[in-house]
Amino acid sequence: MQLSFLGAASTVTGSKYLLEADGSKLLVDCGLYQGVKQLRLRNRKPLPIEPTSIDAVLLSHAHIDHSGFLPVIARDGFVGPVYCTEPTRDLCRILLPDAAHLQEEDAGYANRKGFSKHHPALPLYNRNDADLAIDRLAVVPFGEWKNAGAFRFRLQPAGHILGAATVEVEHAGCSVLFSGDLGRQDDLLLFPPVPPDTPDWIVIESTYGDRFHPQTDPFASLAEILTRTQERGGILLIPSFAVGRAQTLLYCFHEIFRRKLAEPIPVFVNSPMATDVTALFRRSCDYHRLPESECSAVCDTAQYTRTPDESRHLCARRSPAVIISASGMASGGRVLHHLRGLAPDRRNTILFPGFQAPGTRGDALVRGARSVKIHGQSIPVEAEVIQLDILSAHADQPGLLSWLAAAAKKPRRVFVTHGEPVPADTLRREIQDQVGVPAEVPEYLETVDLDRHSNRA
Ligand SMILES: [Zn+2]
Repeated sequence: MQLSFLGAASTVTGSKYLLEADGSKLLVDCGLYQGVKQLRLRNRKPLPIEPTSIDAVLLSHAHIDHSGFLPVIARDGFVGPVYCTEPTRDLCRILLPDAAHLQEEDAGYANRKGFSKHHPALPLYNRNDADLAIDRLAVVPFGEWKNAGAFRFRLQPAGHILGAATVEVEHAGCSVLFSGDLGRQDDLLLFPPVPPDTPDWIVIESTYGDRFHPQTDPFASLAEILTRTQERGGILLIPSFAVGRAQTLLYCFHEIFRRKLAEPIPVFVNSPMATDVTALFRRSCDYHRLPESECSAVCDTAQYTRTPDESRHLCARRSPAVIISASGMASGGRVLHHLRGLAPDRRNTILFPGFQAPGTRGDALVRGARSVKIHGQSIPVEAEVIQLDILSAHADQPGLLSWLAAAAKKPRRVFVTHGEPVPADTLRREIQDQVGVPAEVPEYLETVDLDRHSNRA
């Protein structure tokens, strides 16, 4: 069995692994590169294999850096199944059309501004390609072995986001386990990741390979910020990711009001995608910790703003409230309209509940920018700006190490992927020191022969 690293090698996006054996080919994840241009250009390069020659794709979870290249291979002739869990399929039905829409918008923008080398600039893929990919999605339950080409595989809970899975693949008595993205042991809503059984090889993510999550009580921290904002008579605006983060925030406010940690005030969700994902969360009770009645109560904590008219109405609001809106890094979406209205008033608070990528508007704000440009206009920032990195969906270094150490048998070797160079290499060293297993950070497009490695080990 041969394993090739077609993405997420020394970077956090573009997850794509190719497994080959006996003339059979599997892709594990089929993600889009995001971030700096140098990486995004890889999305335009053809895969080193014909999409028509792939037997099946095994999809760990719905995040675009794991699923967002599916429309390209579907357009280019892949007609096999994309195996995934039920919530992953349902999330892809929301996320892939949105990704196509963003690609089309980017191309349109490049054409209007005339800065594309290609005339006209073409989107990487369109809505039709996303629909072709969605047609390939095939649901498999957690824990069941299933055949695909010359291989068999199973998916196990990974925490992280709704439906996220680890992917274990076996061929001729040799097995490799892909962690996908691993969630936290103590996630407020999701079950902890299932530890490895007895795989010969493990491919582990390292997003937070050099980080330790703070031991802060999220309810107390959020309640304190909310109370302070209420006392000023202001609005608490939270730019949030629509998948996962928004639902965790709803749970936090539900608990804060239930435990009387702060005065109850209206909570609004102003993001069509967050609204759709919350509806999915409500009907996916088998896949998270909340019983049905509590889940309904959590979802009912908020009022949902659907139409552009309702959104405009909410933007005009100046009495105390919590507004959760996307995008999470304030790079686009409805949250920009709220920022425009709320940033200039010192009574308001803008809370970023997660990491802000360098170069984003969110990053400028948490670094203390006194003004930000929104829709071509310079907006003064007088509101309190806070970053609170307590709701991460990824395991930190101790979480990743304890997941590995819980394996029923030590693997022969661990491949560390899905991390920037420093976190990846830090985790590699800690795996060797603390877990006592050889580890390496593979290179982009590197191929390893797992069977030969097996004999040598
Ligand atoms: Zn993810």
